Amino acid sequence: MDDHLCCTEEEMINLLRLFVENESGSNDKEGVDRFGQLLKEKFQALGFLVREDVQTDYGNHLVFQTEDAEEDGVLIIGHMDTVFDRGTIETFPFRVTDRRLYGPGVIDMKGSLVMLYVAMRTLRENGKTLAPFTILLNSDEEVGSVTSRPLIEREARHKRAALVLEPARKNGDVVTSRRGGGQFIVRVDGISAHSGIEPEKGANAIEELNKTLVEIEQLSRPEEGLDVTVVGISGGVASNVVPPYAEATIDVRVSTIQQMTDVERLIRAICSVDYDDRTETYVEGGFNRPPMEFTEGTNQLWQTYRRIAHDHDVSVDHCHTGGGSDASFPAALGIPTIDGLGPIGGGQHTINEYMKRTSFVERTVIFKDFLETLTK
Ligand SMILES: [Zn+2]
Repeated sequence: MDDHLCCTEEEMINLLRLFVENESGSNDKEGVDRFGQLLKEKFQALGFLVREDVQTDYGNHLVFQTEDAEEDGVLIIGHMDTVFDRGTIETFPFRVTDRRLYGPGVIDMKGSLVMLYVAMRTLRENGKTLAPFTILLNSDEEVGSVTSRPLIEREARHKRAALVLEPARKNGDVVTSRRGGGQFIVRVDGISAHSGIEPEKGANAIEELNKTLVEIEQLSRPEEGLDVTVVGISGGVASNVVPPYAEATIDVRVSTIQQMTDVERLIRAICSVDYDDRTETYVEGGFNRPPMEFTEGTNQLWQTYRRIAHDHDVSVDHCHTGGGSDASFPAALGIPTIDGLGPIGGGQHTINEYMKRTSFVERTVIFKDFLETLTK
């Protein structure tokens, strides 16, 4: 195994500083596009073809491809956006200590983008074929990937594998399964009436909603990784009025595609029954990220990654995590998918976000060899 990268650690840190200082909060289209331009130039210089998926509200999504990117190639997914608004860098500047690197987006996931670039450049400079790779960098991951989801699904179809560049877990684990999640809003229309004079003429929307929610919460199976939680509720108009309206928001987390289908069907079935015939119950919302299940295909990717890490004297484990990522989209299409391939860090989305310094070169070397192994 070749430990040699095209850059020194210092050069990698300088590139990371440049990436972090090009702030790119999800809602800052101009900032994300400027950062995208920088990435475009870097990958073009390595010989990648660039496609741009132009957006009006968010930054443009970018697709980089090797010239002969085929249908059965490898898809690499990363995001350019961060949760940090422009100006965060003033109070939370890029900072290097002996053990850590700090800054907005340093681990989620600008460090991963440096890793990707350095790995590709090293392979290129070593005269290795880069084919066939498709790199998809979206601009709205931190706000749910609403505009990039169709693009991810289109690019993922017929690929051999999908590699997702979210950071490794704090202990260095990569991620081979994730829960999926969604939000449902249950609305109840009742009939208002004076609660003192003629309450019998009213149909109480809050009462109706309460009964419905008790049933919905019973769908939870925490031991099976299925959680149904009422996270918000509102209703009523005044202290002397039978409430004509009430609504609740329900957060649902699932571990399998089967649970996802079942729980949605059951929520709708529960809401189709009215305790008081004069009320009407509606369900809105749904799942925005399917679960990423640990499949045989994913296991094979994981075994390859583990072997390469082991060859570099790094022991890595894999894990399941509750949080969502774009890995769910290719995984739900049956594409072997592995996530958490970025460097190790913590404090994501806070002003303590950091990368563990030694993991920067370590994970880049492993990733480079992983790419080489996956090259046909
Ligand atoms: Zn991320």
